[in-house]
Amino acid sequence: MLEQSLRNIVAFGNRYNGTVGERKACNYVLKEFKEYLPEVSVHKYNYLHYEPISSNLAIADENIPCQPLQYSSNGQALGEPAYIGEGTKEEIEALEARGVKLEGKIVISRSFEPFLFTDALETRKVAGLVVLTDPPENLIRSLTGRLYRLNMSLRKPFTPHILNFPAVVTSVKGADKLWSHALQGRTTVALEHKAFYARRESCNVIGTIPGTKLKQQKVVVGAHYDSQIVGIGAYDNGTGVASLLELARIFCKLQFRRSIVFIAFSGEETGLWGSTSYVGDNIDDLKVNCVGMINIDGPCSVFPAKNAIWATGRLANLALRKTKEIGCQIQKPVVDASRFPFSDYYPFTKIKVPVVWIFEYPPMPYYHTERDRLQYVDSTKLAKAAAVSRSLVFDLASRA
Ligand SMILES: [Zn+2]
Repeated sequence: MLEQSLRNIVAFGNRYNGTVGERKACNYVLKEFKEYLPEVSVHKYNYLHYEPISSNLAIADENIPCQPLQYSSNGQALGEPAYIGEGTKEEIEALEARGVKLEGKIVISRSFEPFLFTDALETRKVAGLVVLTDPPENLIRSLTGRLYRLNMSLRKPFTPHILNFPAVVTSVKGADKLWSHALQGRTTVALEHKAFYARRESCNVIGTIPGTKLKQQKVVVGAHYDSQIVGIGAYDNGTGVASLLELARIFCKLQFRRSIVFIAFSGEETGLWGSTSYVGDNIDDLKVNCVGMINIDGPCSVFPAKNAIWATGRLANLALRKTKEIGCQIQKPVVDASRFPFSDYYPFTKIKVPVVWIFEYPPMPYYHTERDRLQYVDSTKLAKAAAVSRSLVFDLASRA
């Protein structure tokens, strides 16, 4: 059933926010939830829709293949390059300590998490940003420049979300070209980004098994059903939605002390929009009554990565124990999930709900590319990761 659900989800094609595929996936989850769960609803929310129009990158009159960095501003930028490595606070500060000023520069970074440092670049008034990505086959990874504003109010998630500089993403070959020109002293980089922005509506699908003794208390288990703008998102996050549906199917026959709330979130890829809105709209209840959030997102590719545990609070040790029991290969130590806004668990950490996410790190090489397909999903690992989530939810919902 788990694999069949996965095949059903990817059959809808691309599920980027606002597409027909996203709508179909939403209706599919709704239909499945209605079949298994006694209480089902749709939670609507507003988000800032991003649609790319064009992007350009050039050095010394040579055009370099690129894609837009989502949620960067419309405009052109011209300047000297400044390389910030992976863009950590330490790297940026070390560069500045050597006298390099980022203001007015075209910043270059090798990263798959540019949203971690774009706030720092805004403060420093950079002219533009080029992100170097390295998927195989010279593909360019689709990335967002702003996943979640660290200082934003959960009660008002629809805050300005667009970076104050234009930015693009390039491939391994693009990076080689940039470096070869730079080494020959040709150092003026030009870039351009153009996109369409609009306020739109999307929805999370929510299904509940009411608790028998402590109905008010709840365990949230969530997986996002949207995909990045390219590909069918088999690994990210067809696997997570399939696991969520499997959990609903198995648990609907059982009784639990606490309520279990199953949520298929949308808008994860471009800004954690769905989960942030859900937390914002239910903040008072969740603060008091939510005993834990289990996130399922891209747990299982065929590439050799070890599963890692991203967790907070007392769920860290519980997750470690469960993964051992089920025989998942786990990379230690447990990562403090509240430090990284990588997926839908993150807004829950802001209101101190304990979270856990079993995730392979680094993510599989083809993620956020058109090659995120079924052939790269490891079904044995998928079953194991689903079993860990199942066991965690079971424990949290039933223990005294
Ligand atoms: Zn994902």
